[in-house]
Amino acid sequence: MFLINKNLTFAALFPVLMVPALCCFGAMACAENGYTVRQPQGKPSVLEMTYVLPPSDGASFRKLSARGVSWGLKEQVELPHCDSGEEPLAKDEDGNWIVPPACQRVIWTISPPMMPDGTYEVSAQTSTSMNQGKWILLSEPTSLLRIIEPNSQSNILRPASASTKLLGATPMKTGGWRIPGGNNAPEFFVVGAPEVEHQRIGDFTVHYVADNWQRVHGLGLLSLHSQVLHYLTSVIFADKLVPEKDRSLLVVWIGVDAYKGGAGGAAGSRSFLANYLMNDEENASEHLATTLMILAHEQFHQLADALRGNRPSMPTWINESIAHYYGLRAMQHAIPNDIAGEKLARYFIDPSRPVKYRFIGDKVDEHQLTALAYRQGATFWAELDRALNAASGGTTSLQKYLPDLLQMDFPEEGSLPPEFLAKLNQWEDDRIEQLIEKYVSVADNKNTNLISRRSGRGHLLMDGGLTKPTSFAWWGSKPTIENHSEGRTAWGG
Ligand SMILES: [Zn+2]
Repeated sequence: MFLINKNLTFAALFPVLMVPALCCFGAMACAENGYTVRQPQGKPSVLEMTYVLPPSDGASFRKLSARGVSWGLKEQVELPHCDSGEEPLAKDEDGNWIVPPACQRVIWTISPPMMPDGTYEVSAQTSTSMNQGKWILLSEPTSLLRIIEPNSQSNILRPASASTKLLGATPMKTGGWRIPGGNNAPEFFVVGAPEVEHQRIGDFTVHYVADNWQRVHGLGLLSLHSQVLHYLTSVIFADKLVPEKDRSLLVVWIGVDAYKGGAGGAAGSRSFLANYLMNDEENASEHLATTLMILAHEQFHQLADALRGNRPSMPTWINESIAHYYGLRAMQHAIPNDIAGEKLARYFIDPSRPVKYRFIGDKVDEHQLTALAYRQGATFWAELDRALNAASGGTTSLQKYLPDLLQMDFPEEGSLPPEFLAKLNQWEDDRIEQLIEKYVSVADNKNTNLISRRSGRGHLLMDGGLTKPTSFAWWGSKPTIENHSEGRTAWGG
């Protein structure tokens, strides 16, 4: 039986920023700009973080925050202070840390909680102590302070000394690991000495960390991930080469007990966290299909983020729904004709399900919109895929449009890009038009007829398109998809 129930989430993002640059002038010791992490001797469950800020004008106050706070995540930063004193930084009324003008280096600690085996649901995106403290999962959005300012660039996280072992997704030529810029998804790091497996998969080098390798190998997750990655690379990059800087990935596997009723994933920029469901042999095939769907969904986000580069994030509903559709396709590719996998696909791709709200134009809040992306988003893309195939007599499919779509500019109100609609319009096919009318209801657009003009439009779909999805969870004990619209999402915690 298909028991698990889901509720997806997505934490959106909106970053804040920071840019590195050379930082030292004069005769004083030259501190490298960026971040360092230290695991103190004898206190392996604590991390000491240091952030050397870029040079300031020496007169202005600057503010710091962990960017996940604005996505609803809980900050894990403790007692940040300048290296010149022990006095903690003050907070402003919005909860941001205030840095005095003369302060060039901020220090804080993180005490990641130790999670019992099978209890860590990764869409929470918290820094966590794993395997009885053997290694720490370090979550950038909750644990790294950034200067609050627009257009942040990437930065670097380095181990403070050889005694601290640090693994990230993207190695930097100057040492250390890349911290994504503000327009990108967050990143996750591993501190300590877990067993790491490295694999070459197509253009990629993938570093895998697991809470329990015996379980991960038993489920065949590395081989399944390899198939998912091959498939999604061909879908997203098509004939394009994956840029050199995007070819190094980090995947962290963490088991979650099936009795908890849910599993999640969190896509970072080039790293992602994936729960796998365990301890329920009777429903093992259903759990494997779910694990794979979540994994593929996150992998889609990561590759789409790489293709999109520094462009502003796509609207959340588009990002989530299209990740979900191709996540299901990738799952079907990896476990073809699997009964549980097909059942799961039918659960999400169901053209007979009534459409109560559309993505644009109906009064839904951000929570509902995200829930809607999971409730009916995969159905929309699947139906569009089918309609394109039918309209073209089998010569085209959504996949042919996907790489271009993922690189387009999106209107501020969160609708589909006029350029994409114009391409669809070239087929002059009623089915395509009706689908968009039924599921999307495109906002005003002078370039196409694929428009539904309705009153009542105009509420918040997202903050200027800056919202960005990062995590996904599948929850519940009774899977009624309707729960998604009201149910809990990672948004609200
Ligand atoms: Zn997602």
